[in-house]
Order: sequence, then structure tokens, then C-alpha cells
Amino acid sequence: MTFKSFNPPERILMGPGPSDVSARVRSALSRPTIGHLDPLFINMMDEVKTLLQYAFQTKNEFTIALSAPGSAGMEACFVNLVEPGDKVIVCRNGVFGDRMIENVIRLGAEAVVVDSPWGRAVETHKVKAALHDHPDAKFLAFVHAETSTGAVSDAKTLCQMAQEHGCLTIVDAVTSLGGIELRVDEWGIDAIYSGTQKCISCVPGMSPISFSPKAVAVVQNRKTKIQSWFLDQTLVMGYWSGKGKRTYHHTAPVNSLYALHEALIILHEEGLENSWARHRAQHQVLAKGLKELGIEFIVPEEERLPQLNAIYIPDGADDAKVRNYLLEHYNLEIGAGLGAFAGKAWRIGLMGHTAKSENVALCLTALKDALNQ
Ligand SMILES: *Cc1c(COP(=O)(O)O)cnc(C)c1O
Repeated sequence: MTFKSFNPPERILMGPGPSDVSARVRSALSRPTIGHLDPLFINMMDEVKTLLQYAFQTKNEFTIALSAPGSAGMEACFVNLVEPGDKVIVCRNGVFGDRMIENVIRLGAEAVVVDSPWGRAVETHKVKAALHDHPDAKFLAFVHAETSTGAVSDAKTLCQMAQEHGCLTIVDAVTSLGGIELRVDEWGIDAIYSGTQKCISCVPGMSPISFSPKAVAVVQNRKTKIQSWFLDQTLVMGYWSGKGKRTYHHTAPVNSLYALHEALIILHEEGLENSWARHRAQHQVLAKGLKELGIEFIVPEEERLPQLNAIYIPDGADDAKVRNYLLEHYNLEIGAGLGAFAGKAWRIGLMGHTAKSENVALCLTALKDALNQ
């Protein structure tokens, strides 16, 4: 048997992630692999930390990129902070809130679930009531940008309410980082995780995370041992901390980190607020075009994520056939519905490098064509 090299086509990725990776980031990825303890590489890792602090808008010393996808970032936050028997208030308004609950349960902790309708923001009055009813709760966990439904939640208000009740916050920012306003220090977020393949437009497989000094103190003062060796941040801190005395923990994904470094430089060059504005502007053009096609959004306008447009599949359209048509005829990927919206919705991503006029125009043309077929 002979095998040929794999040469994927150039697709336009307008699904829930990964998003398009720019030529600059791809070129960074292909640079020579050097040792992960090489002084030059360590310098670059320090810059990645600084650039991540900018992206998260934080001064948190503990801000790094985990060598694993967003799901590992989620797991890292829960496994390091939550101990067996702890009470965690978890907001659920989509698939990713559900996964948070699963993390809490698997740690032998207690999840107090606050349900909000899928396709809507987390209902803050319900969270307020839960915080009041459970004064012993240690953490409040929620998803800032629910990629499964396209809804944004009011992270600022949720964090403020948690602080008033002495709760630490665990926030999923996988889809929000770089795409919408997010201010870790100003809002008082304690533990946050993201992914590289959504609005940062890097290759998948890494998870930026950041812990506040309060969260670091909780990790350092645990009564029980952290269950996961790989995700134990007290060990990872020794690997990512500067000051020259880096200790081997695992081998970082060297080339992927070159790519992340480049993607974060691009974000820094554009400016965070300009990136947020670009996502919003492209979303508005897309929304207008979809309206003209008679397509409806799932999420009410004021709770919509610009970078993830969840729309109802029009009557009579075949879900899989349309998506395949877009892929075959336009090299365009859009996302299927997830969880409660499987078979009922499409998710059009406008994340990072993908969020530009020509892609919005192409998507509208292609959808119109597909629906006519
Ligand atoms: C994509 C996503 C994740 C999981 O990230 P992976 O990199 O796929 O593991 C978690 N939370 C949200 C909100 C996401 O959109």
C-alpha cells in the first residue's frame, strides 16, 4: 500500500470553529522547530503570556496557554479550584454549561444548576436568587458566549453579583476572547479559559487560561490533592513562569505556540477594541442579508453574539444537503445545530480572520444559491 501526502483544499470556515487561519499564522507554524527549553523559545513564551494578558485585559501573573484544547481549559479551571464537597452554582443555557456541570459532578462537588432557556442569555435574576439561597456556594460558573446557541451573557453583572456574595467566578470565554468585549480585571473574573481556534484565528489545540491572585491562592491552599497530574497548575506554573529557572513539565507544542504568538501579534496590531468593532460590523451586514433572505435568528437582537449567528433552517430546506452544497460548490463551511438545536439550526461563524466583508458576501450569495437548488 502507498500513501499520499494529505493536501486539504482552501476552505472558508464559517462554522463554530476552527476559523480561518491567516497566511501569516500558517507561515509562523512552518518555522524550524527548536527545543522547548531553548532560551529563544522561552523568551517567546514570555511574550505569549504578555500578549495573552492584553487579550484578556488582565495583569494576572498566571496567564498562560495550556497545551490542549478549550475543553482542557475548562477542565483545568474546575479540577484546580473545586474540591470534593464544594458547592458550585453553574449556569446552563446551552451545551457548554452542561459540560461545566459534568466537570463539577465528576469532582465529587455539588452543582447548583441555574437553567435559562437555550438561545437566551443567562437570566441574572435567577442567578441572584441562587446566590442568595446558597450562601455556602464557593464558585459561580457560566459561559460568556454560548457557541451552541449564539447567545451572549452579561458577564460583568454576573461577576459583580458573585463578588457581592463572596463567590469566585469561573468563566468560559472560548468563543468570546477577541470577538466581543471582555475585561478580566475590570469585571473581576477569577478563572477564565479560552481556545485558540475561534476569534483568535490560530490553529486548534491550545487553551489560553488566566487565574486571578485570589484563584491562585485557592489552588495553593487546597486541602486535597489536585486529581489531574497533567492539568495541575501548581506544576504547570513552574514550566511557564519566567525568572530563568524553568522546570520541565511536558513538551510544549513548539510550532503551535509560534502560531499563537503570531496570531496574538495580529490581534495586538489591530487593537482589541477594533477587533470587537469589526466582528460587530460584519455581523450587522450578515444579519441584514439574512433578513432579506427571510431567514430568522434564534437569539433576540440584544443577546446575539456577532461571531456566532444561530439561525433557523428555513422550511423545506434539507439541513445536510445545503451544508454539503456550500462545501462542494463554494468551499464554504457553516455549522450544524448542536444539542437542542440539532437539525433545526445552522450556525454561521464570523470569528477572527474569517470576519471580513468578502466572506459575508460570499456566504449570502452561496446560501441564496443553495436554497434555490
Ligand atoms: C469550542 C468551545 C469549547 C471547547 O473548545 P475545544 O477547543 O473544542 O475543546 C468550550 N466552550 C465553548 C463555549 C466553545 O465554543
